[in-house]
This record gives sequence, structure tokens and C-alpha cells, in this order.
Amino acid sequence: MAGIDIESLATVYPNGVRAVDGLDLSVADGEFFALLGPSGCGKTTLLRTIAGLENASEGTVRIDGADVTRLEPGKRGVAMVFQDYALFPHMSVAENITYPLKVRRVAAATRATVAEKTSGELSLQGLLERRPGQLSGGQQQRVALARAIASEGKVLLLDEPLSNLDARLRLEARTFLKKLQRDLGITTVFVTHDQAEALALADKIAVMQTGKLVQLGSPREVFARPSNTFVANFIGSTPMNLLEGEVGATDSSSSGTVEVAGGRLPAATGSIPTGAKVTVGIRPEYLTLSTGDATGPSIHGIVVVAENLGTSSLVSVDCAGTLIGVTVPEEDEPAPGTPVNLTAPVQRVLLYDQDSGELLA
Ligand code: ATP
Repeated sequence: MAGIDIESLATVYPNGVRAVDGLDLSVADGEFFALLGPSGCGKTTLLRTIAGLENASEGTVRIDGADVTRLEPGKRGVAMVFQDYALFPHMSVAENITYPLKVRRVAAATRATVAEKTSGELSLQGLLERRPGQLSGGQQQRVALARAIASEGKVLLLDEPLSNLDARLRLEARTFLKKLQRDLGITTVFVTHDQAEALALADKIAVMQTGKLVQLGSPREVFARPSNTFVANFIGSTPMNLLEGEVGATDSSSSGTVEVAGGRLPAATGSIPTGAKVTVGIRPEYLTLSTGDATGPSIHGIVVVAENLGTSSLVSVDCAGTLIGVTVPEEDEPAPGTPVNLTAPVQRVLLYDQDSGELLA
């Protein structure tokens, strides 16, 4: 078991693209760690640089305390699962799983024992003699995982491990992967562009944008307090409302407020001066919709449309010309045209700098 420490890491491709651009992060021993970001932000390059499949141009990578920056991939103690699984089509499942051991000249009897044990852990019993072409996508993915685990790396690196599976299998594989990681306790870094997958699986998430780290935190922290409007936009299955706002005057009896289209919301304005223009971030899940009078700061609007999300509905409310999304239980869905008031607890109302997009409060 081992942690990973990355310091001032940059990976520059020969064409000059700085795919990883001065990055610092630490993955703790046993942690399930997600690298999350939009296509092209450098996630895969970072993973491949940890594995030694790309050369670091600047900075260091340490695994289990040892500097591996210049070590070849096979000597780093990492096991990687590629997006397309990279199984050998002409080998059986057992041969695929134990291939890394064969390369290390481990005896055949030992390899057979490892294949048996690992296939049990990954629910591949009875499939050891098959070829990859005779397996479902989910089974192939588990063979790739089994091979990585059988190689006894100190850390497991997964590149979009679930992206080749259809939606139903992906959910199944997600649960399986989470349980497996917990049972084995192996330090795992996985790349995904799917925010829901990262929120569901990871102990910690690093959100990347153009080669840089923009936020590091638990799924809860990244969801509840995105550090800038880019992360706010990217995380959450319903997009966060980002509204133009102006910090209102405070009186001694209340916390601050922020004026937005259709009314105002409570806000921890702290040292932000009255009249300052800000972007107000509020998740649809954290707004409360009522058809009666609201006490305290609220926004007034008219229901435009409601979208069914399963057990809840996303209601769009026209607030003085600005559309605000609110999630309500399905049975509370108001009819279009209903006048409503929206309120939110002060700790859920986030204020961002209008120019830089950085979280102010
Ligand atoms: P995706 O989710 O689409 O795989 P990503 O976040 O993993 O994206 P990378 O594949 O790491 O991103 O790519 C980061 C940047 O580096 C992109 O601008 C990409 O075009 C560029 N890039 C990737 N591989 C190479 C390469 N071999 N040579 C030159 N540029 C590359």
C-alpha cells in the first residue's frame, strides 16, 4: 500500500501542449481518488505520467515516498487498466490475468493459484478458460481489473474504467468497483469525465481545467462549495443557478443579503462591500419553493415549466426575466403559471467574483 505525491508536475508534449501544467496533489494510502474534468483537460496525461507512460517535463512523482519520476513504468509498482482494457485476444482469461506474473517468471503453479483467487474476487469463476472475445463488456472489464490486481502493484490507475459499458452495466460495475477497492484497500486513482461517477465512487476528487488543478476535496465539499464557477457548472446532475447579484445593505439584526432578479437571498457577505456586483451560485436542490408568503429574504417568480427527474421535478421559475431552477418532490410540482416564492438557507448561497469566477463567500 502506498500514497502518491505529485509536486510542480508538468507534462509537455513535443507539439508544445502543456497537458499537465504545474500540478501539486497528494493521494493518501488506500484512498479512492478521482481525476475529473472535461475532455482535453489533461486527466489521462496526468495518469499516464504517474504510470511512467509519459515523461514528466518538470516536477516530481513519488510513490510510497520514493521518487519514481525517472523510473520506467515496470519499476514503479503501478498497475494500470486502460479504457479499452487492452486484453490479449489470443490468450485465455487465466493467461490474461497472470500475464504480468509470467513476465516476471513466476512459476506456473503459483500463477494458477493467483488466477483462481483473483477470479473469485472479481466474480469471474468458471470463465478462466474463455477468450476475451467470448465475454461481455462487463466481464472483460473485470478481467482487466483482475490482471491489474494480480500484478500486485502498490497503486491502481484506472483510465475511464466504466466508459465502455452500457448505462445499466455501468451502474453495476460502479458498485462492484467501489466494494472491491474498499475490500482490497489499494490506493486507486481513476480518470473520469463523468461528475456523477466521481461523486459516487471517490473518497476525494481533483477537478482539473486546462492542465491545472482547480479544486481538491471530498465529493460533498466539491458539490456543496465549488471553488469557482467552472466547477459549479461542471458538478451536479442539474446545473447550479448562477445569477447576477448585488450585495445588499446589512443591518445589525440580520446576516447579509444579496439582491437578484425578482428579490433577494440571505448571504454571508462578510467584508464584501454593499453594492458590489457578484455572481450568486445556488443549487436547485437547496432552494425551497412555496406558494404562500415567504418569511425573510426571498425571490418571487412564476412557474414556467417542470421537468420530471424520476422522484423529483426540476421546476423552472421566471423571476423578473431570469429563469431559476428549483428541485421539488414530484408530488409538490406546481402547475405552470403558479406564482411562487423561493428561499434558501444562508450557508447554501455562494458568492463568486464576477470577473475571475472565484468563490468569495
Ligand atoms: P479526454 O477525457 O478527452 O481523454 P483528457 O482530460 O484525458 O481528455 P488528455 O488526453 O490528457 O486530456 O489531453 C490533454 C491535452 O493534451 C489535450 O489538449 C490533448 O489534445 C493534448 N494531447 C494529448 N495527447 C497528446 C499527444 N500524444 N501529443 C500532443 N498532444 C496531446
